[in-house]
Amino acid sequence: MLAKLKNERRLEDNYRHRGLRRKLVSEIQAKGITDENVLEAIGKVPRHLFMDSSFVQFAYRDKAFPIGKGQTISQPYTVAFQTQLLEVKKFDKVLEVGTGSGYQAAVLCEMGATVFTIERHRELYDKVRALLPSIGYEPMFFHGDGYAGLPTYGPFDKIIVTAGAPYIPEALLEQLKVGGRLVIPVGSQHRQEMKLVIRESENEYRTEDRGGFIFVPLVGGKSE
Ligand code: SAM
Repeated sequence: MLAKLKNERRLEDNYRHRGLRRKLVSEIQAKGITDENVLEAIGKVPRHLFMDSSFVQFAYRDKAFPIGKGQTISQPYTVAFQTQLLEVKKFDKVLEVGTGSGYQAAVLCEMGATVFTIERHRELYDKVRALLPSIGYEPMFFHGDGYAGLPTYGPFDKIIVTAGAPYIPEALLEQLKVGGRLVIPVGSQHRQEMKLVIRESENEYRTEDRGGFIFVPLVGGKSE
């Protein structure tokens, strides 16, 4: 009984959280996010439930925070920026590389996408696989190496990579539908350029640079 009560407390989303989310939405709107569906999703997903307990009081600051294993929950503006570039539509099949806290996956689910998400760290994967369904989000979870994508589940309408890659993995380009969009930060460990890749035909891809960001690195191989 006490455990149940504690769990309900832990998963609480109250009027104070909703108020803080409204402020956060205004803040990222002021920074240039215009897609109403993205803003609505950020306004709905309870970010405080995705935070490490040491940082939970900062959940509605527009900042990245540690989530363990040397990884981070991305800054809400960055989540919104990448999601806006994807132009997510209801029922889009979306692959996310780098589940992390699960927050980005929840935003995509909230927008009505069918989400496939891969994480290389077993501990983060286990944690998110337990959390997300308990708060109403049901992506498909995979523990593996996102460099390879998910060949048996592709092709995808959209692919989002939430770690800094040294180059664009060939497998991800192959798993993108014609007309599909891939959003991926590419560069060194210290700075990456946000690349938007649009597959224009079977053999043609158009790439646009959309500004500098700093992510934790996309690391090859999965970790137990
Ligand atoms: N999308 C996450 C969120 O909403 O919290 C933030 C992701 S965090 C910035 C980057 C994540 O990518 C980390 O959890 C890291 O373990 C994961 N990662 C790094 N390299 C990977 C790879 N090759 N395959 C899958 N996940 C990877």
